Amino acid sequence: MSACNGITRGRYRFAEWTLTAVPTMAVRHCGRCLTCGERSADTADADDVHVWCLKHAGLTHHSGYEFSAFQYFNATMSDPGNESHAT
Ligand SMILES: [Zn+2]
Repeated sequence: MSACNGITRGRYRFAEWTLTAVPTMAVRHCGRCLTCGERSADTADADDVHVWCLKHAGLTHHSGYEFSAFQYFNATMSDPGNESHAT
């Protein structure tokens, strides 16, 4: 499984901002039952969410689930006010 250390840059209002994945914060995974709305705890291991869904299905016979993932990013100004490149 590859780590997500993506860096994204964007220029807004003549300042360049850099968006960097927080290296100590892994991608988190979360499951939600579409029948009753109960959510699993968010976890770094996607398999834990699958196990939660299967256990919840076994207990309740609920059959629809939403699986989502999220990640933390920091935004920093990397090139403030450099207008020489602005048009
Ligand atoms: Zn449920």
